[in-house]
Amino acid sequence: MIEIKNLHKYFGELEVLRGIDLTVSESEVVCLIGSSGSGKSTLLRCINFLEEKNEGEIFIDGQMVTAKEINEIRQKVGMVFQRFNLFPHMTVLQNVMEGPITVKKMDRKKARELAMTLLEKVNLLDKANEYPAMLSGGQQQRVAIARSLAMEPKVILFDEPTSALDPELVGEVLGVMNDLAKEGRTMIIVTHEMGFAKEVADRVIFIHEGLIAEEGTPEDIFDRPENERLQNFLGQIL
Ligand code: ATP
Ligand code: MG
Repeated sequence: MIEIKNLHKYFGELEVLRGIDLTVSESEVVCLIGSSGSGKSTLLRCINFLEEKNEGEIFIDGQMVTAKEINEIRQKVGMVFQRFNLFPHMTVLQNVMEGPITVKKMDRKKARELAMTLLEKVNLLDKANEYPAMLSGGQQQRVAIARSLAMEPKVILFDEPTSALDPELVGEVLGVMNDLAKEGRTMIIVTHEMGFAKEVADRVIFIHEGLIAEEGTPEDIFDRPENERLQNFLGQIL
């Protein structure tokens, strides 16, 4: 589904990604962990071309990620950020309908039906006609997830989707993500929620200074970490 070969990314002199090789299969859930500044967000942003790579190749569903293909790539790759970035002047329902209507040229009735189905999936049908400002952070993030699903992406990238939330709201968002994982969605998730990673990840990848320093099953990574940096990292956060 996703194939990344020898990915390098610089910001000026700083080499943030130093040769990432990563293949993610269909229906696989991959969690990315690592210290602040290790390059996790940059990696996600290169995948959907929010950042332009300097070297290497990225394929999504067999298609190479290039500037020319950017619109198609963005439709294939959903992204959910730490901040929800909902349109404040649109209702919850309009937020979810917007992408299918403007990008996919879906007719309004169909887009509305799709949006309602997705709002039901994230348990927010009762908020369909509210504006984002009236919602809690956890509810807004679930709208953001529904909005991303509305584009019927092949893969969804999550960048710390719960780290801006009050602790009591984290569970409802992780619950929705867990449902998506069970449905067989392909997901790459940057997270500091190690319990969640343990539960849902097929594979956990530890990024250190722009390289994959260790990867394996949650059991490999959390119970039998080999890399000393990973051991230190886990020691600090667990
Ligand atoms: P965190 O856990 O804090 O979110 P991260 O692993 O996501 O960290 P990145 O955001 O990918 O880290 O950043 C990696 C490095 O690249 C950092 O040193 C950061 O300062 C630098 N960086 C990121 N974006 C830019 C940018 N647009 N311009 C310059 N430097 C950047
Ligand atoms: Mg980040």
